[in-house]
Amino acid sequence: MIRRLIKVEGIVQGVGFRPFVFNLAVSLNLAGHVFNHSRGVDIEVEGPREEIDTFWLRLTAEAPPLSHITKVEQEEIPPCGRSGFSIQKSEDSGGKTALVAPDSDVCVDCLRELFDPQDRRYRYPFINCTNCGPRFTIIQDVPYDRPNTTMSRFPMCAQCRKEYENPANRRFHAQPVACHDCGPRLAFHNDRFQPAGSSDPLGAAVDLIRQGKVVAVKGLGGYHLAVDALNDAAVARLRERKKRDEKPFAVMFSSMTALRSFATISKREQTLLESRAHPITLVEKKYGRLLQGAAPGNRFIGAMLPYTPLHHMLMSEGPFGAVVMTSANMSDDPIIYKDGEVFEKLGGVADGYLVHDREIFARADDSIERPMAHGSVILRRSRGYTPIPIQLDRDYPSVLAVGGELKNTFCLVKGSRAFISQHIGDLKRESVYGSFRSAIESFMRLVDVPQVATVAHDMHPDYMSSQYALEQTMAPAMAIQHHHAHMASLMAETHQDGEAIGIVFDGTGYGEDGGIWGGEFLTGGADGYSRAGYVSPVPLPGGDKAIKEPWRIALAVLIRLYGEDIPTMPLPWLQELDPDTIHNIRQMIVGGLNTPLSYGVGRVFDAASALAGIRPKISFEGQAAMDLEMAIEKPVDEGYPVGMTDAEGMLTLDLYPSLKALVEDVTTGEPTPLIAARFHQAVVAGAASMAGALRGKTGLERVFLSGGVFQNRYLSDRLGDTLREMGFTVFRHGRVPPNDGGISLGQAIIAARRVLAEKEG
Ligand code: ZN
Ligand code: ZN
Ligand code: FE
Repeated sequence: MIRRLIKVEGIVQGVGFRPFVFNLAVSLNLAGHVFNHSRGVDIEVEGPREEIDTFWLRLTAEAPPLSHITKVEQEEIPPCGRSGFSIQKSEDSGGKTALVAPDSDVCVDCLRELFDPQDRRYRYPFINCTNCGPRFTIIQDVPYDRPNTTMSRFPMCAQCRKEYENPANRRFHAQPVACHDCGPRLAFHNDRFQPAGSSDPLGAAVDLIRQGKVVAVKGLGGYHLAVDALNDAAVARLRERKKRDEKPFAVMFSSMTALRSFATISKREQTLLESRAHPITLVEKKYGRLLQGAAPGNRFIGAMLPYTPLHHMLMSEGPFGAVVMTSANMSDDPIIYKDGEVFEKLGGVADGYLVHDREIFARADDSIERPMAHGSVILRRSRGYTPIPIQLDRDYPSVLAVGGELKNTFCLVKGSRAFISQHIGDLKRESVYGSFRSAIESFMRLVDVPQVATVAHDMHPDYMSSQYALEQTMAPAMAIQHHHAHMASLMAETHQDGEAIGIVFDGTGYGEDGGIWGGEFLTGGADGYSRAGYVSPVPLPGGDKAIKEPWRIALAVLIRLYGEDIPTMPLPWLQELDPDTIHNIRQMIVGGLNTPLSYGVGRVFDAASALAGIRPKISFEGQAAMDLEMAIEKPVDEGYPVGMTDAEGMLTLDLYPSLKALVEDVTTGEPTPLIAARFHQAVVAGAASMAGALRGKTGLERVFLSGGVFQNRYLSDRLGDTLREMGFTVFRHGRVPPNDGGISLGQAIIAARRVLAEKEG
């Protein structure tokens, strides 16, 4: 007889870990106990050595689906001779490092009960168990126990309590457990937010959607606006009311079968769509014209499957094949998640509200993923993933990194883990900035980081996140260069260190010299970098205006290539320009008036998109480049020509020759898909030769591809392949966004290493 103390860390609370341990111990006839505490779960088991060894092996091998063990240790302690195994009450002491689980889709067992007329939770929209349901969005503090969640106001009925207390039950210690009798309830409110349809709230919402109306539906991490995706007039009305011209809407399909009639779904895409996080997944439509209202002019559609019990009920009740489910907000405001705000902000947008009284504590947008050749890439990491940490190579001092400006996230380092926040959004908006500040506060409490050694921020002095870092009084601020942060983020995600080549392509980032960078070839790593090369810059006549009107950049490129005597091209926007505009923009460029130079590759793509006649103006960020990629029908082997120069140790990739060749192709009427592919291929070949030249100079063999431009599948796939053929080891993002949603992680690791280096001095 021996007794062993086993300490488990990771996501082990609120995921059925203790019942699992209980059942395992009982099945092996072991005595002892298990309990949750703020650092994780402690287990003591007593019995014959052989059984305890079996227990130890099966503990990690058979852990419940939502658990995520990051550390497990065991030590022998004196036996105490008591029999029986018990689950003890949570202990609330010490550092609160117990990890909170992300929200999960409804599990198959709960789904079966939901539609079983014999079950006591038949059609109960908040059904859940230890293997599924809300977590991160309802947890106010750790340890994860009912009083620390927004379920604290619902006392369990006798039957629920029996299940909750029975270790053999699937709902044993499932904190959000509830039923028709004791739990949250649905309600329907009309367009003036007055209670209506009280006997059948779901039916009232379904009726409105059927009539082509807009219904606000309270979900897991916030409200959605729902309209019938197959009703073009309804979708158009939603666009008009939401003031959103062309940006695609996500669509929820009732089932995989329903989705398959709109899109061809690979095995891998299916796995992703059905995963616990149920992300919005960008899949290719069967025909471009399908779902035109939801994703105008787009070959892809952001698809998702129902993930809450309420979604399943709504979709089957309709029955709806496809429903637009877009975040409830106006344009780029944060997703609305508080009942008190929904009418104030959506009055006039929604024709009805399907609400309930389980409060959402932390907002979380739907996550977005894009399948690529090397695997799926998270473009927006939020619901279903937050707050799963990124494991670091060692323990670090606590650090807060506040991220960028667009697609903002922040990141907290604690010990050997980096916790990236949920998607916050565009900080330029006042409402988003407010939400950013309060999210930092609650995240610091949840991860239990009362103090940090430094607050890392972007070098851009005007970013709201930088201003926050400079104004806060918790700790000294530390500025980190934008593209260095992108590269370090990918190195942290892929657990790589040392020196390497970084190809960081994005739209805009503040350079060390105050310039606009974004076509960067870096050498170095988390501890330092140098700018070894860049893409030739393009002028932005009118500054920020040129970002919304790519035709300005295109015109500047034409003037650079041809002077004022620009060629006649079959492009409506160009034909509409009068000679004065051309002359004025030339004067601006020559005189350097409000015409900054941008080194961002994104801007070169904008120019190419306008020159190819695809997108002279945009209505949302990244649209011109995205549509250029969408125009490609198949890859080409031969791209447009590029130039490369090496001056005083700095390499330049010159894309003007390819823009010139593109103009010639447009002039002679080559097909747009071919033009788009040739331009992409030019960037691939150019970036690959730059990497080759850098390897020649430095001997570095690893290449890291980061930055928002690598959301582009053609570039990511093809450049990755080309570099590998050249013998490089290539790293791309997967679990952390390549766009600015990922830079908080990079800032955090750079800052944490600097603080550590100073300490160890
Ligand atoms: Zn379940
Ligand atoms: Zn109940
Ligand atoms: Fe960036």
